[in-house]
Amino acid sequence: MDELSSSSKSGCEIYRSAEDRAAMAALANDYITYISDCKTEREAVAGVIARLKEAGYSEGFGTDRGWQALHGKAIFVARKGRRPLAEGIRLISAHTDSPRLDLKQRPLQEQVGVGQAKTHYYGGLRKYQWFARALALHGVIVTSDGKTIPVSLGEKDTDPVFTIADLLPHLSHKDGSLSLSDAFDAEKLNVILGHEPVLKGEDEEKEPKDPVKTRILQLLNEKYGIREDDLISAELEAVPAGPARHVGLDRGIVGGYGQDDRICVYTALRALLEAEDPEYACCLIFWDKEEIGSDGSTGASSRFFQYCVEDMAAAWEPETPFRKIMMNTKALSGDVHAAVDPDWQDRHELKNSAFFGHGVAFCKFTGSRGKYGANDAHPEYIGWMRGVLDARNIPWQMAELGKVDVGGGGTVALFLAAYGMDVVDAGPALLGMHSPFELSSVPDIYATKLAYQAFFEAK
Ligand code: MN
Ligand code: MN
Repeated sequence: MDELSSSSKSGCEIYRSAEDRAAMAALANDYITYISDCKTEREAVAGVIARLKEAGYSEGFGTDRGWQALHGKAIFVARKGRRPLAEGIRLISAHTDSPRLDLKQRPLQEQVGVGQAKTHYYGGLRKYQWFARALALHGVIVTSDGKTIPVSLGEKDTDPVFTIADLLPHLSHKDGSLSLSDAFDAEKLNVILGHEPVLKGEDEEKEPKDPVKTRILQLLNEKYGIREDDLISAELEAVPAGPARHVGLDRGIVGGYGQDDRICVYTALRALLEAEDPEYACCLIFWDKEEIGSDGSTGASSRFFQYCVEDMAAAWEPETPFRKIMMNTKALSGDVHAAVDPDWQDRHELKNSAFFGHGVAFCKFTGSRGKYGANDAHPEYIGWMRGVLDARNIPWQMAELGKVDVGGGGTVALFLAAYGMDVVDAGPALLGMHSPFELSSVPDIYATKLAYQAFFEAK
């Protein structure tokens, strides 16, 4: 009677062949390159565009394969299928942004001979994880004459890195009794930028005011030609420095920053590029701002997606009404899930949780406190999707994020559902999600890419 019981399977059990093993390793290696090179929403989109160009895609919808981007932070990609758009598209969404420390608009300060940048954290992060580690600065500085200067400092072996000093244990005994939020004050997340003062010239009477900050401004001016005011129109993000790495003796895990949700960006892109002869038009929408509620012009609650679909329809099949495309569309909301943490199993309800290495995790609903704020996918759609994956023996699992009234969270699924399309959350489960060193399972990366590809190729 065993075949009557339900259980998820591990990817390692399913992918035993030398061919699968080689493909799995190659995919993980290329993924490591992508997330090591792309640590901001802009870099994630630039990385997508570079791969699209290589595959023969062009900007706009003048050909069968095109894209449209917004502010370099969000992007829509489309590839024609055999059937008309009126029969709907196959869509995968994901988000390009990740939790990090944004520099404030007036960031520079000097205290007791140390030059720092003040930050305002972005997204849900545990503040203590950001102290005492090497950080890199990524982003852009825009001058008042409209020039955009890209910044990436702290990644090359020859670059300096930055950091936030943590208090020594000798001076922090008393902090043990404080709550986490009191012990780690957001206004103390100040990134050290420099230490060398500008020295008094022989003809000068007084030391310059803030000599370390002045020296930092001199160096920024030499490197980028900017003044302190230019930082007001900058978006500089402090992110963990250095590349993603394999973790474990068996190299079965990828560790690195920003896997939520660039793992779905990457696997969905690979699936779109490699899908064979798709029946329906295949589309990707990668949004920004998911980690702070999906607002803003590049977030999922904006009209960007709709405008892109309208432009695509105008170019390919101008008679087709937008609503007709939407009502016939099937979508996967690609976002990461929480894998059962080996040391915190009590936070999960184990019958309905995602296990590391057991393939792509579906989430029928997200939300919290009684499914509040959830999409709650229709069972007819989940049944169809199960069939698509089982036909190809792709490992998948159905999961909730934590115990009822313990866990919860939101994704962009509800923004897609608002158009009337069928949508369900589907993505790999991570350990250490939202930390500076998130972990993904190599078989899950492979299974997710194959699941997305099966979705695009489904009749
Ligand atoms: Mn996410
Ligand atoms: Mn997240």
